Amino acid sequence: MLWFPAPKSVTGEDVAELHIHGSRAALAAVTQALARLGLRLAEPGEFTRRAFLNGKLDLLQAEAIADLVAAETEAQRRQAIRQLGGELGTLYRGWRDSVTRVLAHLEAAIDFPDEDLPPELEERILEEITELVGEIEHHLTDGHRGEKLRDGIMVAIIGPPNAGKSSLLNRIARREAAITSPIAGTTRDVIEVAIDLQGYPVVVADTAGLRDSSDAIEQEGFRRAMRRAEEAEIRLFVFDAAHPAEARGVSAWPEPETLLVANKIDLIASPERDLPSIAFPISALTGEGVDALLSALGGRVGQSYCSEAPVLTRARHRQALEEAASSLRRSLSATLPELRAEDLRLALRSLSRITGAVDVEDLLDIIFHDFCIGK
Ligand code: GDP
Repeated sequence: MLWFPAPKSVTGEDVAELHIHGSRAALAAVTQALARLGLRLAEPGEFTRRAFLNGKLDLLQAEAIADLVAAETEAQRRQAIRQLGGELGTLYRGWRDSVTRVLAHLEAAIDFPDEDLPPELEERILEEITELVGEIEHHLTDGHRGEKLRDGIMVAIIGPPNAGKSSLLNRIARREAAITSPIAGTTRDVIEVAIDLQGYPVVVADTAGLRDSSDAIEQEGFRRAMRRAEEAEIRLFVFDAAHPAEARGVSAWPEPETLLVANKIDLIASPERDLPSIAFPISALTGEGVDALLSALGGRVGQSYCSEAPVLTRARHRQALEEAASSLRRSLSATLPELRAEDLRLALRSLSRITGAVDVEDLLDIIFHDFCIGK
C-alpha cells in the first residue's frame, strides 16, 4: 500500500493506493472489504473532479485528461498532452490578466474627479482593448483545427459512378467497409471509415456517384454526397483513368482542396502519357499508387493541422472566447466609463469560465460526465 498524504497527492486529498493482484476474485474481495469500512467506488471522473476542486488542475487540464484517455492517434495524444501541460491555460489566463489590468486602470480613472482625468489614459485603455480583441479573434479564426483534431479530419471521396470510389475506400480501410459492385449507383448513402493517417485521425467518407438520376433514393444519396463533399477538409476526386475528360475542370474547384485520383491504371497501357500530370495514378484493384496517394494526403493533413501555437480544442472554449471578444468590442464603443467597465467585467467572466475560475458548478457535471470510472 502506498500512502500519499494531503496536499501532495494527485487529488490534493489523502490518497491510499492499494497494489493488488489483478484477478477478479482478488479485486472483488478487496472491494467488499473496503465497502464494509464504508468506502465506495469513485464516480466517473471523480478523481479528476476532486483534483480540479482542490486546485491541482484547471478545467482545461481536466478536459485534457479526458482527451488523453480518448486519444486514438499520435496527433490527438500530443494535442492533449500540450493542453495538460497548461499552455492553453497560460494563454487564456494571460488574456484574463490583461482585462483585469485594463479594468483596474479604468476603475481608477472612474474614481478620478473629472478635471483630473489623465487624457492619455482613456486612449491607452482603448488601445489595449483593441489589441486584445485582435489576439482573441486571431486565435478564433483557426479553421477549427484543434476541434477537428479531436473529432477527426473529414476527407470525402467523390467522383462519377463506377470510377472506383468504394474500391478505393476499401483499399484505404484495408477491409470491406463499403460494398463495391459493377452496377452504377450502389453506394446510396455515405459510408465512413476512421483511419490513423500518419498519426492524424482521418475520417474518409465514400459518397454516392455524382450523376443525374431519376431514382429518388439515388438523388438523396447524391444530395448527401454533395453536402459531405462541401463539409470535408479535403476531397479526393476519383475518375476512371481511361476517361480523363471526367476530371476536366475539377482542379479549379474552390476550397476545400481537391486531389485528383486517376483510378484503374491497371487497365491502361501508358498512364504517364494519357493522364493529367496533377492526378495521382492508382489502381484500387491492385493497390498500385495507393500508398503514394495516402502519403500525399497525410502530408497535406500534417501541413494544415500541425501547429506551434496552442489551438482551441473545444466548442465550449470557442463560445466563451466569442462572448469575451464581443464584450470587449462592445466596451470599445461604450459611451460612459461605467458602461465600459461593465463590459470588461463581462469579458473577464467569459474568460474565467474557460479555465474554471468562476461559476462553473453547472459545467462540471457536463465535463466530468464523459470520463470513465477510475479517472
Ligand atoms: P464507385 O461507383 O465509384 O464506388 O465504383 P466501385 O468501387 O463500385 O467500382 C466500380 C467497378 O470498377 C467495380 O466492378 C470494381 O471492381 C471496378 N474497379 C474499381 N477499381 C478498379 C481498378 O483499379 N482496376 C480495375 N480494373 N477495376 C476497378
